Amino acid sequence: MKNTNTCPKCGKHNIVRFDGYTGAYGSGNNVMTGATVFSGVNVNRYICCDCGFTEEWIDTCDLDKIEKSKKAKR
Ligand SMILES: [Zn+2]
Repeated sequence: MKNTNTCPKCGKHNIVRFDGYTGAYGSGNNVMTGATVFSGVNVNRYICCDCGFTEEWIDTCDLDKIEKSKKAKR
């Protein structure tokens, strides 16, 4: 969906992106990788405007932070 700009559910191409953010106390659409607000990794949403299907992606530059987080479980 992010790469193809095609909705996997309905096959249409009406995709929009909403950027995640990290606000006070970790509010917003994010993953808190540590104890402070600076450890927030934003989660971006891709939404199909035809059927409402939603996918969430983290930017590849932030994946290192996710992988090394002490909060991550395997
Ligand atoms: Zn769709």
